[in-house]
Amino acid sequence: MRVTADLDLCQGHAMCVVEAPDVFAYDKAENKVRVLDERPDESRRAAVLDAVRYCPTGALSLDDGTENTA
Ligand code: SF4
Repeated sequence: MRVTADLDLCQGHAMCVVEAPDVFAYDKAENKVRVLDERPDESRRAAVLDAVRYCPTGALSLDDGTENTA
């Protein structure tokens, strides 16, 4: 899976950081999310999905890797 953040939508609520602090960080200077791990381990799926779901601005998305990444 691949995690992406649309920084135009992100308003720095940092809900994602609460859900998955190993995947998302809050950049205080920018007041935006920073994706620490764009390809988290499958074991983190539930937490990442919660982060995507609870982001108030819909800035996060999860791509299931069906695209050709080779
Ligand atoms: S929860 Fe959404 S709006 Fe808040 S920091 Fe994360 S991506 Fe940005």
